[in-house]
Amino acid sequence: LSQLFRPLDMLGFVYRTIRQGVIDMGSMFDLLDTNAEVKDAPGAQPLRVERGHLRLEGVHFAYDPDREILKGIDIDVPAGSTVAVVGPSGAGKSTLARLIFRFYDLTGGRITIDGQDIAQVTQASLRAAIGIVPQDTVLFNDTIGYNIAYGREGATQDEIADAARGAAIAGFIQSLPDGFDTRVGERGLKLSGGEKQRVAIARTLVKNPPVLILDEATSALDSRTEADIQATLEAIGRGRTTIVIAHRLSTVVNADRIVVLESGRVAEQGTHSQLLRKRGLYAEMWARQAQEREAGEDPVPAE
Ligand code: ADP
Ligand code: MG
Repeated sequence: LSQLFRPLDMLGFVYRTIRQGVIDMGSMFDLLDTNAEVKDAPGAQPLRVERGHLRLEGVHFAYDPDREILKGIDIDVPAGSTVAVVGPSGAGKSTLARLIFRFYDLTGGRITIDGQDIAQVTQASLRAAIGIVPQDTVLFNDTIGYNIAYGREGATQDEIADAARGAAIAGFIQSLPDGFDTRVGERGLKLSGGEKQRVAIARTLVKNPPVLILDEATSALDSRTEADIQATLEAIGRGRTTIVIAHRLSTVVNADRIVVLESGRVAEQGTHSQLLRKRGLYAEMWARQAQEREAGEDPVPAE
């Protein structure tokens, strides 16, 4: 009987992969571009980050007025802690990341950093305070050094080299004939998925933001490369307020708190062990993924 379902599974996989490609390209441009509809409030002051306490209070959001995506979300991320956001694809996880970056304005509720409403501070100061490592990093057709320096205007050679070390990619860069001057991207040296993510991590380290958002940062990688990069991500998250959006639950077991999002609502939250004891949605997702791990399959990456 299971053989009967194989072709259907395959179709689903192809569909999801295509959809994922499209959506993630979209969200990447979302984040690089600015949305002209979002404007600085009159007299907006720069954000003053003290410790980096991030709060979402009663957040509502809709892309289209007749379809609400987030339906009253409360999430508290104490300064320096790591909160994971998990849940089925389409639950609204990436939307949450875009809202913290203020790519869109909320339709209800508020988001604060150290008590300041992000809608009332300058966008430039907000975005300087937040680093995002997306699922797929697109490199510019330029040198690897330029691609790292892109994290912050005016970064020095020393800072770029430090960031490369922090991202555990310095050795690889040194092995290249032209080092940091090696051209990468479409028209240069093609980097593997894992190498690209390390460039993205180095870019973030150059920026040195107090708030870090990892949106499926390792889900496009095979599980071995993922495990490799996981350690680096945990290291760069230390001391920063971090939101980790993840599909593979094995990457979030160490989070200070895990928030399970379902259809735009917080279904449950707690530590990994608390959530397992609850035997709810998280426990169910965990059991399913454990089965997949045993079967040696990589779960289909979510968008
Ligand atoms: P997740 O990251 O949890 O998979 P998303 O936040 O990407 O979920 O998407 C949540 C819902 O919002 C989905 O139904 C998706 O189709 C919809 N959505 C995402 N981006 C847009 C957009 N730019 N315009 C309209 N709808 C969108
Ligand atoms: Mg997403």
